[in-house]
Formats: sequence, C-alpha cells, structure tokens
Amino acid sequence: MTAKALEGKVALVTGGSRGIGRAIAERLGRDGAVVAVGYARQEGAADEVVARIEERGGTAFALPAPLGRRGDAAALWAAFDERVSAHAPGGGVDVIVNNAGIGTSSDLASLTEDEFDEVFAVNVRAPFFIVKEGLGRLRDGGRVINISSGVVRMATPEIMAYAATKGALDNFTLALAKELGPRGITVNSVAPGVIDTDINASWLRDPEAAKWAAGISALGRIGQPEDVAGVVAFLASDDARWVTGRVVDVTGGSAL
Ligand code: NAD
Repeated sequence: MTAKALEGKVALVTGGSRGIGRAIAERLGRDGAVVAVGYARQEGAADEVVARIEERGGTAFALPAPLGRRGDAAALWAAFDERVSAHAPGGGVDVIVNNAGIGTSSDLASLTEDEFDEVFAVNVRAPFFIVKEGLGRLRDGGRVINISSGVVRMATPEIMAYAATKGALDNFTLALAKELGPRGITVNSVAPGVIDTDINASWLRDPEAAKWAAGISALGRIGQPEDVAGVVAFLASDDARWVTGRVVDVTGGSAL
C-alpha cells in the first residue's frame, strides 16, 4: 500500500465543523493527517466531522476554539496541548489552516466600528496570534495555509471591510513566508470564489443570485467546499514544498 500524503502529520483546521473548514478537515484526515477540528460553539458538528474522519480510518479530535476575543489563540493552543498527545505522540503540529472567518454585509456608509473590529478580530487578528503562539509547536518543514478570498482581486464595495481583512491576511502570508522560509515552512493563501456554504446561504437561496454566482465563473458553476479542500491538501503535501508566499486563486476562474 502506498503511504498517504500526510501520514505522520498533525493538522489544525480552525472553523472545521462546517463549510469549507469541514471539507478541509475531512480531506486532510483522508490524506493521513491527525486532524484537530476547531469549532466555536458547534461541538456536536465538530464531533460529527471527527466521526466521519474516523469512519474512513483516520484520526481526529474536536478542539474548542472560539476566536475573536483577546487571548483566543493562547486558549486554542492550551486546549490543543491538552488533547493532542492522546492522538499523536510528540505534541507538535505540521499544518495550520486558518480557515475560520466571518463575513460582513455592510458597505462603507452602513459599516459600524463594532462590525469592523469584529471582522478584523476573527479574520485577521486570530490567524496572526494563532501562528505567533503556535510557532514553538509548528515543526520545521511545516505549512501555514490561510483561507483568503477572491475578493482580494475583485472590487466589492458592498463588503469592503470583509475584503480588507482578506487583503491583510494575504500580506501576512507574504511576510510570514519570508520569516519562516529558513525553517522549511511554507506559507500560502488560498482564495476561494463563491462557494456553497452557510456564509452565503442568505443570498444564494435566490435563484437569480445563484445564476449570477455561477455565471461569473469561467467554469459556469458555484464552487463546492471540496473544490477548495483539494487545493489545501496539495499545499499541505510535500508536492507543494517549493510554493510559498503565494495567493492561490480557487475561484473557478471568476471574473477573468
Ligand atoms: P461558514 O460560515 O460555513 O464557516 C465558517 C467557519 O468559521 C465555521 O466553522 C464557523 O464555526 C467558524 N467561525 C466563524 N466565526 C468563528 C469564531 N468567532 N470563532 C471560531 N470559529 C468561527 O463559511 P465558509 O464559507 O466555510 O468560510 C470558511 C472560510 O472561507 C472563511 O474564512 C471565509 O471568509 C472563506 N471564504 C468563503 C467563501 C465562500 O464563498 N463560502 C469565499 C471566499 C472565502
């Protein structure tokens, strides 16, 4: 039997209980990694993801990791340290996927300072400090994968603050790739287009909106979480060892 691409590796996926994070967690589990499935509140959903990974012969554990408040990253790693050794000896991590994120639905005129602070706290501050606090645990040769968005190259004034968080995240990717390169750690962003998940559920239910979303992709359909997970799995694998500091567009060729 050929070895799985991530055999012997440990991966952390924030927001792994649903949507894109769930697909990433399941895929990395299938590829042989021990997966820490981060969740904010949905413990039952995280347990389901763990069960699904285990059904397919993998190993995973649910990790309580609500983000967006001061001290969130330290609390995440404390919870990780408590749980990881039961599943993987050594206690470290090889792949950090900063996936958890929230949207905004405000243009500049309606944006409040509270909304701005919240979206930056979850989408930018949390990944920064998860990496900062996790550096001692992240093994040489590891991976940091930040889930960005296609909005970094498409002007979206109707969700300007959300788009700005992803621009900030991509710049973090760039600087961090240089910082961690000497340790053989690669850092990349993955930028999905419109993917059929809860974050879009309110507007994608409208058939006209769904038609528009499918139509902006050169491939003529709305993306699925698995479309993103496959690219994350590639970046996590040894095959992607020479790719770092990049934003990989996973929008199905949207707005080409
Ligand atoms: P989703 O709403 O289905 O999932 C978001 C995940 O993040 C959930 O698991 C949720 O529990 C977690 N999360 C949200 N707030 C959190 C908090 N405060 N603390 C901890 N976890 C929290 O959305 P999704 O589409 O799966 O989004 C995943 C990532 O992909 C996000 O970073 C999002 O910005 C990005 N993205 C999504 C799309 C899309 O069209 N769906 C497009 C581009 C980028």
